[in-house]
Amino acid sequence: MKRIEAGSYYSYLPEGCKLCRRGAKLVLFLTGLCKNSCFYCPISNERKGKDVVFANEREIKNFEDFLAEVELMSAEGVAITGGEPLLKLERLLEFIRISKKLDLHIHLYTSIPAKEGLLRKLKIDEIRFHPPELKSAELYEESIRIAKKLGIDAGFEIPAIRYEQKIVEIVNENDAFLNLNQLEASETNWRMLEERGFEITDYYVESSEVVKMFEKANKFHYCSARFKDQAQFRRRLIRMAMNHPDFYLVTRDGTLMCCRIEGELEKAKRILRDFGFDFSVFEDCIETSIEVAENEKIREALISEGCSLYLVERYPTVKRTLLEVSRV
Ligand code: SF4
Repeated sequence: MKRIEAGSYYSYLPEGCKLCRRGAKLVLFLTGLCKNSCFYCPISNERKGKDVVFANEREIKNFEDFLAEVELMSAEGVAITGGEPLLKLERLLEFIRISKKLDLHIHLYTSIPAKEGLLRKLKIDEIRFHPPELKSAELYEESIRIAKKLGIDAGFEIPAIRYEQKIVEIVNENDAFLNLNQLEASETNWRMLEERGFEITDYYVESSEVVKMFEKANKFHYCSARFKDQAQFRRRLIRMAMNHPDFYLVTRDGTLMCCRIEGELEKAKRILRDFGFDFSVFEDCIETSIEVAENEKIREALISEGCSLYLVERYPTVKRTLLEVSRV
């Protein structure tokens, strides 16, 4: 087993996971609809049971939104998830078509045992099956076998909630992979997990004994929840941050530091241009270099024209979530 960051390790790492590890996978949430009701389903209330589409944190209303997110993070691949993506087949096929045009690696999560005709239609790079609550794993063996025959890398992706021998047998008999995830407790599954007696530490479900048992799978990968936070997410942020204009300072965590101007934005634009500073304009503010806040002359000019200045640290995501704000 090869150990990587934050408690994750593997004997086999699917291509989709390699890209994810580098922060290069865009997560396309195709729909919040799903016919199952797994007790551990971690989907947020904002998305659960709703037919909404998100690319990472960005709500997708049209394909331009999707392209904007691909560009923002310089995506090299797309992980299509939900809900159940196969419930929205036309939409799924359209996003696959666009992703292929952009030369993105595509992996799909589904809880439906896909038949040969469908797998041929999808023609994606990788497929990961999730038997709801890990029941009836045998239903997926044929799909895995056919997917592999068609050149699609295939396997199971499941939460580490309990050991299921059948999954290991199918994986080993078909040269498939097993991705095992540490389960995260969320606003939507916390109560159910507690009721079933799961031990929750720091928002994660303790599962080391279960993980050990699943190591019998020949192609095995354990992905810890901390890894998702510390490696995947952070690296995705860094990729996004580096695609911002040069005046932003990029931190080691992939956050951005800048000077935020609120108030008289038209006047602020004129003053920034006069002093030769680059800036970005948003609906509610202007962002520019922190040098603006440090330069007494321009700072005074902005304040006297009715502007308020703040030093901020924020995520480079589409929501521009503020992490720290201090008034200048
Ligand atoms: S199959 Fe997935 S999306 Fe559907 S209820 Fe189970 S965990 Fe949630």
